[in-house]
Amino acid sequence: MMGVAVVLCVVATLQPATAADEDPLQDFCVANTVAGSAAVTLNGRTCKPANEVTAQDFLSTRLRQPATAPAAAAAGAPRATVNLASVDTFPGLNTLGLSIARIDFPANGGLNPPHVHPRATEVLFLVQGTLTVGFVSTTNNTLFQSTLSAGDLFVFPRGLPHFQINLDKHKPALAIGALNSQNAGTSQLALALFGANPPLPGVVLQNALGIDQAEVDALIQSVH
Ligand code: MN
Repeated sequence: MMGVAVVLCVVATLQPATAADEDPLQDFCVANTVAGSAAVTLNGRTCKPANEVTAQDFLSTRLRQPATAPAAAAAGAPRATVNLASVDTFPGLNTLGLSIARIDFPANGGLNPPHVHPRATEVLFLVQGTLTVGFVSTTNNTLFQSTLSAGDLFVFPRGLPHFQINLDKHKPALAIGALNSQNAGTSQLALALFGANPPLPGVVLQNALGIDQAEVDALIQSVH
């Protein structure tokens, strides 16, 4: 009996970590984007009929250009633009457990504000410029921060709040973020708290942050 328990413990210890999307059960499953079919999902998207799939389904030219809109509006504050190729914009990624983003940072404070990806770890490759990046762990809210040069990588573990900012006065920065989910999800912390629709109860924010309703209202205004 004891031997069985020991074997079971060893087997449990040897189980590989499954930190990405489910493995595909076929070569590919290009997401079906035909009107109506996209509404049907099974922890992902339904597959386009295999006999209709072409090489074009595995190609995306989306990241040739920066995203046109900033990650979020901010009065007078330079913001990075995030152009994301996920299953929604690149159907060939369906079931493959990956997405990728191009992030363009204007000089002098271009910011990708603190956010989390609930379903993915992100590895960032800095193509051009310099970038100050960091994430906060769940252990004592420790900040892990670094400044990257072109060619450097930094990894943001799944679910942890992270940010990137270009503090160079004159040069823009360009980064590529790869995520191990076809639909990583992004929750920007300031928007989750102050841009929620409908708004969080005032008393929740007052109590959580130790501020009064006028300050809550000002913060809600600032993110809209
Ligand atoms: Mn991110």
